[in-house]
Amino acid sequence: MSDAKLIDGKAIAAGLRKRVGAGVGQLVAKRGVKPGLATILVGADPASQVYVRSKGKIAAELGMTNFDHRLPAETTEADLLALIARLNGDALVHGILVQLPLPRHIDTAHVLLAVDPAKDVDGFHPFNVGRLGSSAPGAPLDFPVPCTPLGVSMLLHETLGPITGCHAVVIGRSNLVGRPVAQLLLRADCTVTIAHSRTRDLPALSRQADILVVAIGRREFVRGDWIKPGAAVIDVGTNRIPDDNGKNRLVGDVAFAEALPVAGHLTPVPGGVGPMTVACLMFNTWQAARRAVGLAVAAAD
Ligand code: NAP
Repeated sequence: MSDAKLIDGKAIAAGLRKRVGAGVGQLVAKRGVKPGLATILVGADPASQVYVRSKGKIAAELGMTNFDHRLPAETTEADLLALIARLNGDALVHGILVQLPLPRHIDTAHVLLAVDPAKDVDGFHPFNVGRLGSSAPGAPLDFPVPCTPLGVSMLLHETLGPITGCHAVVIGRSNLVGRPVAQLLLRADCTVTIAHSRTRDLPALSRQADILVVAIGRREFVRGDWIKPGAAVIDVGTNRIPDDNGKNRLVGDVAFAEALPVAGHLTPVPGGVGPMTVACLMFNTWQAARRAVGLAVAAAD
């Protein structure tokens, strides 16, 4: 059997950003509305600074306004909630992103609950979580959906087309990745199994999957003989390991070299799911701006 086709997340994300940029241009030209993304970073975590800077830069490249809020690590929860309330009421802001993790003295659940669900471009507000959980197959996704899961769903649709009736096994049940991925695949008419650290005989279960999504956070945990020949394998994991030059390199949760000759389609790490996350944030912000002026949402899955 020939090697798996690699799913080029960089190219698919570039296509999505182009689509968003064009859509933003139309919104500005026809409605005079420029989508606005407010990013909030509390503290000076270096990785978070890189993420927030990159999100702001890409938003600007796509014609959106980025309102960049940097707050000191000692910011109180009350001050952060007051900023969010102000942004909720600001008509120029269509999306609010609070970079996680927050300092330990701030209750993340309080903060996520404070964001207006219409501006919740991360899709973490319980109202939006509930909407995803109760949305029927085929119904429009007219609410924000978490970015990485939306990216996974887009990669699968772009690569496989309709996935009706496929058995999808999702390893990982976090609110950030595993659960929303499973909800999106259920909406796409897959038969979905969610696995986690207490699942029995994970290799045998994984071997039943037509679509295997892995979001665990353990390097090369899924081996080649866990994969059904021809399956589509989406590796969400990002694990940093030291390379020969004393720097860090990224590896996924799937043993890539072992998976390559077995899978039908496979995402590389890096260059698979990662680039889709920020592109989907831009998509969500564009969609939030469209909804704010009463326009229908664009197809997302
Ligand atoms: P998380 O919150 O730590 O959740 C990990 C999940 O994996 C949990 O449900 C856990 O099960 C499960 N798990 C852990 N060990 C397992 C085992 N031995 N067997 C089966 N399941 C096991 O992590 P996350 O936020 O979902 O992230 C998962 C990975 O995706 C990480 O590597 C993260 O860096 C990466 N990620 C990448 C992107 C991107 O843009 N590319 C975005 C987000 C996350 P229990 O629930 O039973 O503990």
